[in-house]
Amino acid sequence: MDKIKLDLFLLKSKQDLVSVHEFFSKSIKKWFTKDGSPKAEYFHVRACPICQAELSVEEFEIDNFAYHRCLSCNSLYTKPHLRDGVLESLYSDGTYQYYQDNLVKKGSKLRKGILEQRKFEQIRVLLEKDEVDLLDVGCGSGTFLDICNENGWNSEGVDPSPNSTSTHNITIHHGDFNEMSFEKKFDVVTFWGVLEHLSDPVLAVKKACEVLDPSGMIVFEVPSANCFISEYLKKVPFSPTRYIESGRHNIFFSKTVIEKIAQDFDLEIVSIETNGLDLQTILLEEFEVDITERIINMQDTLNDLLLGDHYRVFLRKTV
Ligand SMILES: [Zn+2]
Repeated sequence: MDKIKLDLFLLKSKQDLVSVHEFFSKSIKKWFTKDGSPKAEYFHVRACPICQAELSVEEFEIDNFAYHRCLSCNSLYTKPHLRDGVLESLYSDGTYQYYQDNLVKKGSKLRKGILEQRKFEQIRVLLEKDEVDLLDVGCGSGTFLDICNENGWNSEGVDPSPNSTSTHNITIHHGDFNEMSFEKKFDVVTFWGVLEHLSDPVLAVKKACEVLDPSGMIVFEVPSANCFISEYLKKVPFSPTRYIESGRHNIFFSKTVIEKIAQDFDLEIVSIETNGLDLQTILLEEFEVDITERIINMQDTLNDLLLGDHYRVFLRKTV
């Protein structure tokens, strides 16, 4: 399927990226000492959240968060890591709302019409059936569910936030996905930008397998630990907002981990692509049309090499 070429500053403007980063930095200042060390009351040291191995090496530090490479599974994760409940405070003190209003809502029309529509088309082509039951875990404002619903699919969502609603009266299950029971099996379970926020992402994939039809699919998008930006960050420390989202993106998946998940849960990798290389965020400039076009083309090339900053993975259950 053709990739979409999109000027990322149309989605998130430079000014908004800078102001959200400043707002976040102010909100999380209390987590660190004056010299930028993480305070023990907010942080703890943990093993790799994916493979539980203890050994790791620090690769870079962004906004006082240290990112370690797991020597066993090659993933990247924050170490030390925020204690349970600390991150959630950003959801109640208005910080997350500021992010939603300035970065998410402003680009929502473009996101729905282009990006969410493409996700739907990618799954539709692979499923090859008309009657589809879909479960979107971490559905947020339900934009992707709306698209599925408008196309005649039976869609349901899961979201921990009670504020999460859908405009089409789509059923949203609120609470912890791992604890839920469903009345039916699904043809597809999706996680768009969700697994990297969980303390145990593998458990969520296991749960998805349990609620899946025998020939069903799991689709997820996660930040990549093997991308151009993660290499670039070793040389030039800066804060690529969309990729890192300091403190919020805690796990970056390696290709090794994706292959291991597929193997452990009897899933076949049908397709894998990388999306959304923030070259413009690296440069943080808005350019004339011809330069933007060149950056977008360079971005497209790096995506083709699977070096974009997010993996989008389509897995099918094997029987
Ligand atoms: Zn690991």
